Amino acid sequence: MTQFVPPAQPNDPIVDAVGKLVDSVFGHDRATRARTAAILLCAIMYAICCTAAYYAAQINLMRPFAPKFLWATSMPAYVVFYSLVRFGKTKHLKDPTLMLPQNIFALLAIAFAYTAVGPHDRGVVLVLIALVMVFGMYTHTPKQSVQIGLLAMVLLGMSMGVLSHIDPDYYPPDLELLRFELMLGTVPTLIFSAYQISSWRNRLSAQRKDLKIALEQVQQMATHDVLTGLYNRRFMQDRLEDAVKRFERYGERFTVVLIDLDHFKRVNDQYGHKVGDQALMAFANACGIVLRETDIIARWGGEEFIFLLPNTAAEKALIALERLRQTLATCTVSENVPQLRVKFSSGVAVHDCVTSLTHTLERADKALYEAKSSGRDRDVTAPPDKP
Ligand code: GH3
Ligand code: MG
Ligand code: MG
Repeated sequence: MTQFVPPAQPNDPIVDAVGKLVDSVFGHDRATRARTAAILLCAIMYAICCTAAYYAAQINLMRPFAPKFLWATSMPAYVVFYSLVRFGKTKHLKDPTLMLPQNIFALLAIAFAYTAVGPHDRGVVLVLIALVMVFGMYTHTPKQSVQIGLLAMVLLGMSMGVLSHIDPDYYPPDLELLRFELMLGTVPTLIFSAYQISSWRNRLSAQRKDLKIALEQVQQMATHDVLTGLYNRRFMQDRLEDAVKRFERYGERFTVVLIDLDHFKRVNDQYGHKVGDQALMAFANACGIVLRETDIIARWGGEEFIFLLPNTAAEKALIALERLRQTLATCTVSENVPQLRVKFSSGVAVHDCVTSLTHTLERADKALYEAKSSGRDRDVTAPPDKP
């Protein structure tokens, strides 16, 4: 049965153009987009604050030169921040959004604005410190959050102290002292909250990393054999069932090879269990070298192994087995027993007609039995199955 495929829709040129514009402004990958969006949001906030500063200067709440100075410093600074982030120059940094330099710049701008606003209204500027700290608490380390809070207090405290000393008319000492006390009463709480949120964030991300590692370990343990590092029986059983389904749906035949090491009990008895283990590992290594990446190798149990060779005819499987035999003939299993070599017998069965997996495995097992009984160190192919 042929499936209905809807005709391809031509792309809307307007949607395409908008997409390209968004890409060129914000960047192509998700991380860069999130960073440039944060920077542009800050730049918009500066633009709004600078415009408000112009208005404040017009109604004599601020010194006339201050708005121009704020524009002339903040816009170039944000062009630099944006360009560095947008063009990936900060990707490798611990702080790729440049949040720390942005925060420091913001505190300097706030301190300047504070000094430029009239004697009775400059207290309003202090509210902006909270904005800076909230922005930073989701990216800074706990230590950086504290440093930013302290820097805010030092910068503004110094401005209040020095200016009220130099120009007590424009910076009335009693008002500056009141504002300083207010700052002392509020900013430490902000520092503490920012510190806690940064610590929770750090702990959460460390836990997430640990969980990811633990999950990978559990997955490795559930699917691999500890000694040889090969896949285990359960994993192979699933892959074999998948292969049967693929054969039934797409006609992709596959070959199963059951392998049993020859006289392995003797290896253990003569040289000890440790050398036996080394022999199993040497066999697994040789399989990894000889077989293709698409072939699946598993430890079926004890000294038995199984190969699943997709899209492989019996003759090709026999060639691979011969290569494996030659590789093993040159492999030293143990430095203590340099003469020891691993030998094996195998049974090969091709799954190329509709039948059960159990039946194919039985054919491979029978062929293996024949290989053993006819002298070992050889491969026997099961006769073709009758459909
Ligand atoms: P054959 O050629 O007929 O297969 O003889 P064999 O000695 O290999 O057969 P048998 O089944 O009698 O012995 C298998 C041995 O494999 C017995 C067991 O102790 C050993 N064996 C199974 N698993 C391990 C293992 O993880 N490490 C070690 N060192 N030996 C193992
Ligand atoms: Mg055995
Ligand atoms: Mg054996």
